Amino acid sequence: MVDKPKFPVIDAHNHLAEPFGGGWDNKPVNELIDLLDEAGVVQYVDLDGGWGEKLLNKHLDYFKEAAPERFQIFGGVDWSQWKDKGDAFPEWAAKRLQVQKERGAQGLKIWKPFGLNVRDHSNKLVKVDDARLGPIWETAGELDLPIMIHVADPVAFFDPIDETNERWEELGNHPDWAFTSPPFPPFMEIMNGFKNLVMRHKNTTFIGAHVGCYGENLGWVGQMLDDCPNYAIDISARLGELGRQPYSARKFLIKYQDRILFGSDMGPDLEAYRLNYRFLETDDEYFNYNTGEIPNQGRWYVDGMYLPDDVLKKIYRTNAMKVLKIEQNA
Ligand SMILES: [Zn+2]
Repeated sequence: MVDKPKFPVIDAHNHLAEPFGGGWDNKPVNELIDLLDEAGVVQYVDLDGGWGEKLLNKHLDYFKEAAPERFQIFGGVDWSQWKDKGDAFPEWAAKRLQVQKERGAQGLKIWKPFGLNVRDHSNKLVKVDDARLGPIWETAGELDLPIMIHVADPVAFFDPIDETNERWEELGNHPDWAFTSPPFPPFMEIMNGFKNLVMRHKNTTFIGAHVGCYGENLGWVGQMLDDCPNYAIDISARLGELGRQPYSARKFLIKYQDRILFGSDMGPDLEAYRLNYRFLETDDEYFNYNTGEIPNQGRWYVDGMYLPDDVLKKIYRTNAMKVLKIEQNA
């Protein structure tokens, strides 16, 4: 086990509320900071600012106020307002970003319902590259708000749910994670729309969550990184995917070492951090990628990446400083 990371870490993808962040908005902040110190995490991106400003303000007041140099809080888009605002929705949502930025938000989080469930005022499913939403993405660029975006989900969640599905067990535990197509759009339709979106808004910085939302196909993700200079990815919650293709993943992490951000997505969980460090730093073979007894994203084990120090430094911290515009103050 690796108790401390070799270099200071910025966790660029995590949560602090329920259900993903351990409900820290109801626990003492000093305990949270002690925990992050113990884990070697110098800065923490909290993506739980929510869709409107209510949660955002709560998190800014609670975490950012207590330790401004330790936390970045991301805002969101309240898609439910499309129904009432009608054609004026995109401009309205773009203006909310301005308000969120003034209040202290340092980025925008787009959650996976976008492309799967979000509907416009005529109740039509909205495509990821819907041109009407241009004002939101352009405004985020003008305001210098990086967009952490998660579209689609693991490929297996789009496949038929039967005993041949490699995530069958997990889908049995979480039936709401199944996006079998139809009725949902096919996985590649969402991904191609995502790439269109990022290519269309070249002055806006996008971060593709979870290995660019397609850890199963590092070739595809690498091509998108090649084609889109305004694009970076995080590695959160995909140790299972990276570590089952260790040769390709190691080459990928080294080749794109300037474009990859560290993220845990497991809440501020010491054991989960240590597992991430073990994965990135050691050449340990065939271990559980999950802190539970049974690997939770499919019953396989992973091999470590034993990344060189200069690559580790970038993925742990310096890439995030550049992409998220974080000053070195922690
Ligand atoms: Zn997340």
